Amino acid sequence: MENVLDLLVKIQGFDYEVEETRARLAQIPHEIEKLEKQIKAQEQELTEQETRIQELKKDYKLKEIEIADNEDKMNKLNAQTFAVKTNEEYRAILNEVDFLKKKNGEIEDSMLALLEEEEKLKNSIGTIRNAAKEYITKKKEKINELKKEGESALEKQTNAQNNFENSFATLPDDLKELYNRIAKVRDKAVCLISDNTCTGCYANLTHQFLNELKKRNKILLCDNCGRILVYTPPSK
Ligand SMILES: [Zn+2]
Repeated sequence: MENVLDLLVKIQGFDYEVEETRARLAQIPHEIEKLEKQIKAQEQELTEQETRIQELKKDYKLKEIEIADNEDKMNKLNAQTFAVKTNEEYRAILNEVDFLKKKNGEIEDSMLALLEEEEKLKNSIGTIRNAAKEYITKKKEKINELKKEGESALEKQTNAQNNFENSFATLPDDLKELYNRIAKVRDKAVCLISDNTCTGCYANLTHQFLNELKKRNKILLCDNCGRILVYTPPSK
């Protein structure tokens, strides 16, 4: 009976190991997916910064054209002033020239802002690029680590599963049945005792019951949860 009880504890250990690795294996793909998303977001951000420089250059060119157009218009208007017949007409042309002058001033201000932004971005793009590279490398390393962890977890799971099945096969048939019946409902079929409580349901065990368990001469079930309780002497 002692051997059977020890075997039950071992079986429970393997079962726990299988479950633990299964849970970890289920998590790993999600963690990898999250890291891949972070990499993609970082790459996208870098691309945005790089396109921004191109956009600023393009905007600047467009504004240059706009200023030249306005200057062209002003030249034409100024030429018209020699041909006007009335003061009203003259004032109207001057107003229009003033308006275009003001407008060009505003465009020049915005061009200056574009230049400043471009300059700033050009100065920092190197740092941004390096930081992004470093960030991505780290995330990729982490992905490789997780993949390796997954491989070894799978191996561990297979070993634990084999150990479980091999040990389980050596149990007497009636105990196999009992184990399966409890495991179906309670997940864990075997529990150890800690601080005079069942580690499956944390129910307190009576003194009398504990003494029975300590004899280790038969299979005993927790009164509360129905799991097989095994007392392991301190030396084990
Ligand atoms: Zn219990």
